[in-house]
Amino acid sequence: ITDDLYCIGCGAKLQSADPELAGYIPASSLKKQLEENNEVFYCQRCFRLRHYNEITDIKIDDSEFTDLLNSLGQQKALIVNVVDLFDFDGSVIPGLHRFVGDNPVILVGNKADLLPKSVHRPKILNWLQQQAAKEGLHPVATLLTSAKKLYQVDELLATIEKQRHGQDVYVVGTTNVGKSTLINAIIKQTSGPNDMITTSRFPGTTLDQIQIPLADHHSLIDTPGIINGTQMAHFLDPKELRFVSPQSELRPRVFQLTPPQTLFLGGLVRIDFLGGKRSSLIVYVENNLLVHRTKTETADEFYQRQRGKLLVPPADPDKLPAFRSHEFTTKDAQDLVIAGLGWIRLPASSQFRVLIPEGVNYSLRTPIV
Ligand code: GDP
Repeated sequence: ITDDLYCIGCGAKLQSADPELAGYIPASSLKKQLEENNEVFYCQRCFRLRHYNEITDIKIDDSEFTDLLNSLGQQKALIVNVVDLFDFDGSVIPGLHRFVGDNPVILVGNKADLLPKSVHRPKILNWLQQQAAKEGLHPVATLLTSAKKLYQVDELLATIEKQRHGQDVYVVGTTNVGKSTLINAIIKQTSGPNDMITTSRFPGTTLDQIQIPLADHHSLIDTPGIINGTQMAHFLDPKELRFVSPQSELRPRVFQLTPPQTLFLGGLVRIDFLGGKRSSLIVYVENNLLVHRTKTETADEFYQRQRGKLLVPPADPDKLPAFRSHEFTTKDAQDLVIAGLGWIRLPASSQFRVLIPEGVNYSLRTPIV
């Protein structure tokens, strides 16, 4: 591509190298348009926006995102922070509470359709609020949505109207939380044929933003997603990452264990049940992910023999960081939450050792079922 072609929609420099970055235009499409002596070009994102009223996310790096966040704090606005219910840790925007200043925040836990029916919604809302508070965020409202199944999207819109007090609305989130899907759902519910959404430059940055008109000349603004902090992306390839991420409503899987016994979640996590009464562990992870029970005595040897074979993903276990081991005793029943994977309900009064790749976050919470 020549250096001096820019998208007429958002002003980004056109490029054909990376579909996930600003200004992307497929090489074939650019070639065709050049041959037709076109003088104005749209990047793929603006093209879709113009023709289908549909947005796609672009991914940006941390420093651009920091500029964007800084400009958020400098105006009066409502902030809608979308997170992935199954990967709160990977969804966190570091320092968001400092950037938003005094602006109100609505916290949206998306992908609620993946929760089994038996999950007690108030309990998971409560947990979400606690996680947010740890990050210094104190949302004025917290909602569980499914952008895919349109669950609670109307309620979200009503809450936005209630909380925005006549100001603009900025939707922020890391990539892969479902922000684009949610914005597209919002567009479908709010815009008639004449309400054309537009792009414009984000003040003080080189980034473009998508503006969806609201009543009273204000807009709902979709900001680019910061690259997800999900640690597993470092050692799972995209196909494997999709394979372990919950894809459809989780079916609880119950395992009766007599200590000392061990559960493997693919080749990613090992849970040793070291002491306590014979009990059941209930596993809530992607339905297709292998959960394998074995004796703790022989678990090391079993792992060495089966890593990358039965115990997958990862297919290439040499890419895995070292396992971090943590021992604890439960007083009451607890959920062991593993960022990006799901959770395992552990019985009360039992002793555990958990092995998880270095860098992958996990925590214990009051059970939500
Ligand atoms: P973005 O990067 O935050 O804009 O995320 P996308 O909207 O591109 O969605 C990322 C992935 O999550 C896609 O595979 C979506 O199909 C999926 N996804 C988005 N919203 C939902 C939801 O509410 N439920 C489920 N199950 N999947 C979702």
